[in-house]
Amino acid sequence: MNDRGKASRREFGALAVTFGLAGSRMIATPAPQEPGRRSLDADEALRELLDGNQRFRSGNRLTPRGRPEDFLALTHGQFPEAVVISCADSRVPPEILFDVGVGDLFVVRVAGNVIGGAGASVKGSIEYAVAELHVPLILVLGHSGCGAVKSAIKHIDDRDSLPGAINGLVELIKPAVAMTKGMPGDPLENAVRKNVEIGVERLQELKPILAPRVKDHKLRVVGGVYDLLNGAVTLI
Ligand SMILES: [Zn+2]
Repeated sequence: MNDRGKASRREFGALAVTFGLAGSRMIATPAPQEPGRRSLDADEALRELLDGNQRFRSGNRLTPRGRPEDFLALTHGQFPEAVVISCADSRVPPEILFDVGVGDLFVVRVAGNVIGGAGASVKGSIEYAVAELHVPLILVLGHSGCGAVKSAIKHIDDRDSLPGAINGLVELIKPAVAMTKGMPGDPLENAVRKNVEIGVERLQELKPILAPRVKDHKLRVVGGVYDLLNGAVTLI
């Protein structure tokens, strides 16, 4: 049991007392929240996500921890097992496709799941989860048919071709398109994959919070691609 797990159990104990005392006025004393569960290491957390995705694919979702009491039990703290950076695309909701519940994932969603150049709001969110919540795993998740990557391919040679801030967003994806230009296979699939790889590398090297933890094997950063056709998440 690492420090994180101990903290988790202490927190759970405090919660149980709190809710127990208040039980007569509240809906119920919440069911145990599997307090040891939040002590997962990166490999265990990744296995849970992949197992959940398998359930999702096969139509056997458990839809865990979605009851009002599950939310209530987390009002004093959170212990997510992974950070997922995924596209804002409405067809890629991480909690559903990994079959997890409230408190399980710290999700950062931005079109094209961009990280490089995405600024403090994206990187700061990820760093917060690692530094303050001690999350052991980061998953950068691209997906097939990504509209943001499609736009980058379409407008690779254009300037100011898209309105508003869309152009600036697409610019962040163009390096992945340029690096995969001429490669065998489907240009969109190649660029989606490269865009994820760039994000993973960026996070692995991000100082001062992430890079030292990756080096000390306290943090794992992985990439994956979600296939809209079959629901599968494939690690890169
Ligand atoms: Zn997308």
